[in-house]
Amino acid sequence: MAPVSGWIFDTKRFAVHDGPGIRTTVFFQGCPLHCPWCHNPESMPFARSGRPVPPGARQVTVAELISRVERDRVFYEESGGGVTFSGGEPLSQPRFLEALLTACREKKLQTALDTCGHASPQTARPLLRHADLVLFDVKFFLSRELLRHCGATNRYIFSNLEQLLTDGPRLWLRFPLIPGYTDTPDNLNAFEERVREWRDRIERVSILPFHPAAAHKYRRLQIRNPMRQVPQVPETIALALAKRLQAIHPDIHIGG
Ligand code: SF4
Repeated sequence: MAPVSGWIFDTKRFAVHDGPGIRTTVFFQGCPLHCPWCHNPESMPFARSGRPVPPGARQVTVAELISRVERDRVFYEESGGGVTFSGGEPLSQPRFLEALLTACREKKLQTALDTCGHASPQTARPLLRHADLVLFDVKFFLSRELLRHCGATNRYIFSNLEQLLTDGPRLWLRFPLIPGYTDTPDNLNAFEERVREWRDRIERVSILPFHPAAAHKYRRLQIRNPMRQVPQVPETIALALAKRLQAIHPDIHIGG
């Protein structure tokens, strides 16, 4: 049988913002959403047979990837870290992700799954349960806004999140704070309400303030950058939101 393989566009060693401790982050190629503020625009196109390979994408086997991440085992063990599967969207390559999660478990490597949650529940649920920690990004609490800006409804996302809240591994909720998009009063009020409702189940809430660091990638890839005029979120704005949430949850972070 052919070895299981999948498409990635990068790996990052010594990552410290993608879960606890020191980690290796594996960035999957392909995402079903198209967020205008995406920091990894190269991750969006899927690699499909018979079509040109997206720039930067490469196919790797599970064995290759595991041997690469194992090189830093000593750092994971000393820091309580491990491997994070991010993207793009890892749930969009379920067979590859499942094989990676299984291999990590066999080798006693801690795993985190960074996801937007947009995959059919039938596909997503076993994978979400298989990780040691899920970093679940919610951008919009109102479905019409997600559809308008990122091209999908919240139906799968909230179905998967609700299942995780009932029965799943450790869970961190991540909220990108994006000027002109996710920072509307309605969305922030809904975010606060959900944190209140889920506070016993969510271990950490991370606010991810927009910064324009990816602008050079859009230029290099010659992709239109809808955020080119948008400055970094002022620290005072992120702090004010954190303060509001600290009244209802004990672990509020700014950044990953
Ligand atoms: S879900 Fe994440 S990877 Fe996908 S387009 Fe949005 S920001 Fe980019």
